[in-house]
Amino acid sequence: MQDLDNLSFDAQHIWHPYSSVKHPGQIHEVVSAQGVHLTLSDGRKIIDGMSSWWSAIHGYNHPELNHAAKNQIDDMAHVMFGGLTHPPAVELARKLIDITAEPLQYVFFADSGSVAVEVAIKMAIQYWFAQGQTQKQKILTLRNGYHGDTFGAMSVSDPENGMHNLFEQVLAKQIFAPAPTCLRDEDWQDDDIAEFKTLIETHQHELAAVILEPLVQGAGGMRVYCPEYLRQVRQLCDQHNVLLILDEIATGFGRTGTLFAYEQADICPDILCLGKALTGGYMTLAATLCNDKVAKGISADNDGVLMHGPTFMANPLACKVASASIDVLLASDWQNKVKRIEQKLLTELADYQADPLVKEVRVKGAIGIIELHDMIWEQMTWLPKFIVDQGVWIRPFKNLIYIMPPYIIQSDELSQLTSAMGKILVELNNRNS
Ligand SMILES: *Cc1c(COP(=O)(O)O)cnc(C)c1O
Repeated sequence: MQDLDNLSFDAQHIWHPYSSVKHPGQIHEVVSAQGVHLTLSDGRKIIDGMSSWWSAIHGYNHPELNHAAKNQIDDMAHVMFGGLTHPPAVELARKLIDITAEPLQYVFFADSGSVAVEVAIKMAIQYWFAQGQTQKQKILTLRNGYHGDTFGAMSVSDPENGMHNLFEQVLAKQIFAPAPTCLRDEDWQDDDIAEFKTLIETHQHELAAVILEPLVQGAGGMRVYCPEYLRQVRQLCDQHNVLLILDEIATGFGRTGTLFAYEQADICPDILCLGKALTGGYMTLAATLCNDKVAKGISADNDGVLMHGPTFMANPLACKVASASIDVLLASDWQNKVKRIEQKLLTELADYQADPLVKEVRVKGAIGIIELHDMIWEQMTWLPKFIVDQGVWIRPFKNLIYIMPPYIIQSDELSQLTSAMGKILVELNNRNS
């Protein structure tokens, strides 16, 4: 084993996301990262179009985030959160309560997005339990959703492209409404919510909550939908006594053009999940916020306690970097940056709409998506190398070629990403013919 180089050792011993150790596929080694660039072990610098899965919104190696981490590590890297608190947790909770909707006043720090979703589901079920409504334990959600890889989160992720077939016997049975299709409020028709409406009416007696990703469904299909859908969902949840959980783990912190996507619908969830860009992509941390009704309601019978408590809950290093990341974001001209990215994506991706392989081009905030007619799994043998050879890092999946770059990306760098997306199309066309 000693004489294996890193890539060979990796291929033989290390799992990557959704991978097989038998057919590990093409992997590139990153040795450092700066701004929007990843430096590979062969010396090449490539432009990151993925923000390390929505998270590195300020780019890499940011001086203020580095400073926060370095300072905090000399005070304390970690301390347990049971019975103890610390300034980084309090500071971050203050900021989160401050920047989210006014009713969200309580913060649970979780260690990853999936765990934040588990906690949200627990909050909802425990809330109804404490009200004596022990039959309200199911979750209504949308097809094409993605909420994480733990069991509760998997149970509410898309039943077809998720992992339901593998884990059918162990996954909680949830209720699925069709994915929203209406793109713009101007085109809204009451039919767009009809099936959701029927489901919430029929199942209200057993429903604890609705969970969904507001405005943009991420890993479950990169789909975009209109704010009116969210307003209708909020109304129906109120009417039928069902809590509303918004999963803003991908959309949070400016990605869709507002700090949080729910702002565009002018609604407020009962429970909100945050993660990914929370620490500016530095380390893992997530948060589940909730309103007074849920927080106090869990303890309605006085001895009810929220049953969750991870070992690394509210890790001080992560909290400190998250606070710094929020400061950097708010002090930056992020609205204009996201708007400029959006405008450029709209212009530069529009050209690809006419390509015979392309089903649809979609842009929302700093997210650009090309949906193809066909899946590209088989192309994954040559595609990663082809993409890196274009000087960029884009990771297509299923039938989607998409980017969500760091907000700090410069205009010419963004053009390099969009033209690489075009070159992928050309190459796919060439290999198809
Ligand atoms: C990534 C993601 C999650 C899961 O977060 P992890 O940190 O990967 O566990 C949950 N919900 C949404 C919307 C996500 O994009």
